[in-house]
Amino acid sequence: MKKETVPELFGSMVFDDREMRARLSAKVYRSLRKTIDENARLEEYVAEAVATEMRDWAVEHGATHFTHWFQPLTGVTAEKHDSFISPSPDGGVIMEFSGKELIKGEPDASSFPSGGLRATFEARGYTAWDPTSYAFIKDHTLCIPTAFCSYSGDALDKKTPLLRSMQALDRQARRILKLFGKEVKYVRTSVGPEQEYFLIDQSVFEQRPDLIYTGRTLFGAMPPKGQELDDHYFGAIKPRVSAFMEDLNNELWKLGILAKTEHNEVAPAQHELAPIYSSTNVATDTNQLTMEIMQKVARKHGMACLLHEKPFAGVNGSGKHNNWSMATDTGVNLLAPGETPYENAQFLLFLCAVIQAVDDYQDLLRLSVATAGNDHRLGANEAPPAIISVFLGDELTAILESIKNDTAYEGTEKVVMKLGVHSLPRFSRDTTDRNRTSPFAFTGNKFEFRSLGSSNSIACCNMMLNAAVAESLKQYADKLEKAEDFEGELHELIKETIKQHERILFNGNGYGEEWVKEATEVRGLSNLKTTADAMPHLLDKKNMDMLISHKVFTETELHSRCEIMLENYCKTVNIEGHTMVDMVRKNYLPAIEGYLYSLAKSTSLMKSVSKYVKCNYEISTMERLSELTDYILEKTEALEGALKDLKEYEDIIRTSEAVRDDVLPKMDELRKYVDEAEMLTSEKCWPFPSYGKLLFSVY
Ligand code: ADP
Ligand code: MG
Repeated sequence: MKKETVPELFGSMVFDDREMRARLSAKVYRSLRKTIDENARLEEYVAEAVATEMRDWAVEHGATHFTHWFQPLTGVTAEKHDSFISPSPDGGVIMEFSGKELIKGEPDASSFPSGGLRATFEARGYTAWDPTSYAFIKDHTLCIPTAFCSYSGDALDKKTPLLRSMQALDRQARRILKLFGKEVKYVRTSVGPEQEYFLIDQSVFEQRPDLIYTGRTLFGAMPPKGQELDDHYFGAIKPRVSAFMEDLNNELWKLGILAKTEHNEVAPAQHELAPIYSSTNVATDTNQLTMEIMQKVARKHGMACLLHEKPFAGVNGSGKHNNWSMATDTGVNLLAPGETPYENAQFLLFLCAVIQAVDDYQDLLRLSVATAGNDHRLGANEAPPAIISVFLGDELTAILESIKNDTAYEGTEKVVMKLGVHSLPRFSRDTTDRNRTSPFAFTGNKFEFRSLGSSNSIACCNMMLNAAVAESLKQYADKLEKAEDFEGELHELIKETIKQHERILFNGNGYGEEWVKEATEVRGLSNLKTTADAMPHLLDKKNMDMLISHKVFTETELHSRCEIMLENYCKTVNIEGHTMVDMVRKNYLPAIEGYLYSLAKSTSLMKSVSKYVKCNYEISTMERLSELTDYILEKTEALEGALKDLKEYEDIIRTSEAVRDDVLPKMDELRKYVDEAEMLTSEKCWPFPSYGKLLFSVY
């Protein structure tokens, strides 16, 4: 059989624009496009016609089932499959799928987290078709991207608020563009998420209960070789990994996912995949799919794909870079410096909107990436600190400085920058992207938010970012729409914004200790180190007011979300704690005891043979190991106590604080002693594969 070419393969499992245009009548197609592009109401006859064509296409491509595919607050995607078949009078079956089934589903919502929304409302929820994200076929099932709500209309998923935030930004950005004399159909945010992950051999993965239950190792002494040689980063890709990547690309391309670059990352066994950017909503769906397919393809190749933020302590963790920009329907990137002075003024205004948004809503951005897993990474010498700041690069910073102070900008010519009069110099990418330590960096024509954890849904940070930028733009539009001297007031507005928000701008080393001091003590930026610290700020009045006023969330939804996110944090750590106790009691302590027994036996045997043997090695090892088992027992009991105490708190905020202050430190202490014991025990007696075996298992 002839191998399909990439263009033939690409999108072959997606009911995309090409299929729609080819299969739908011109009238239906036009109407659907209007719904997709301009959010117009979906007519019933259009839904019927689309359902019929979608079904025929799906059946032709081997699908037998359909599902409403959605993203509940568990963080993974959910699907409930129904088959197309319906009995026909002649005893056979026909394949049926109606417009109603396309646009609305009614999964039982009762097993998904609702943060109290369910208690007061109906147990059932409903899913609603999101026509802006194409349907696709996965495992013989037609997957229809949908939003997920409770019966009272409260969002129970990540897509609904994301779509609302995109609408909020669209509304405000178009107001601004109008002031610059531009009427556009829509402004949409685009995202290209760079995804990091680890690949280890499936056989070693299966021997580690901590990886199986929690996605990360809870114990493990450092191997003799880690990442110190930097020999892995961008190094040659191993044959097994390269076979995996080829297979993965094919699977992603079939689903119309623009997988583009792949390379080794800093840590051994760590890799990265970057797609070409797309509309935020689509990028969110495809990133979820990418993570799912990575794991599936890895298994096919006898490997496990780890998406946890910190699978190995002491080794670089995995993040996800969220490259974000805003563009019009005509393809104009609003974060690209323009050609003319007038366009530059518009660029600077949008730039200011982002700077102000990040400053005003640092806490929202921080909490949007807060999970138990990501807490291990932020600020740990490999990822930006929990402090949010903006990197602009020297050139752009100098320009803002000169605007702020009415002083000359020393670019190619020395001029006092006057908006609407002077052009901006061209920034080479180089000058903007050198600093990799900033959590939020301007990289030429987009911002790169780098604090996301590798397993995070990108929906969370983008809904906050979109909403916060919509708020800055709204304030600007309110002011400028009333302006008599537009250019003059625009200049003043930009100048004022720079003055008010320059504290968030930082081009220095974000990993340094000095920065933490300066940021918190001099600049007054927030440093929310853990999920327990960050999440309650979702309910701060200024944050609630903003999110509610832009209709991204309702008050009820915010309360429920805060509770669910904190619950996720507590549950995750709780499972980790119990896994540790389990591993220690069932495996580590018995293993050390076994080794002690063999040491003791051989010591007494040797001594009985000759009175000259000293047995220094045996005795000193035995003494320390025996001491360690006592500590391990003591720390295990302490951890068990702390885990038991968690059940006593009624309030989730209090519980999350106990997780932070009590459980996590006890887990660290326990680990320390077990890891020391690992270094003293014969590998033959040790019950689990070592870090060395895990990290260097794929070759
Ligand atoms: P790197 O950061 O690895 O040097 P790039 O900056 O070229 O690579 O691209 C990183 C990601 O940013 C890719 O997913 C790319 O598609 C995405 N990207 C590029 N331009 C934009 C844009 N205007 N808006 C959003 N994402 C973008
Ligand atoms: Mg990048």
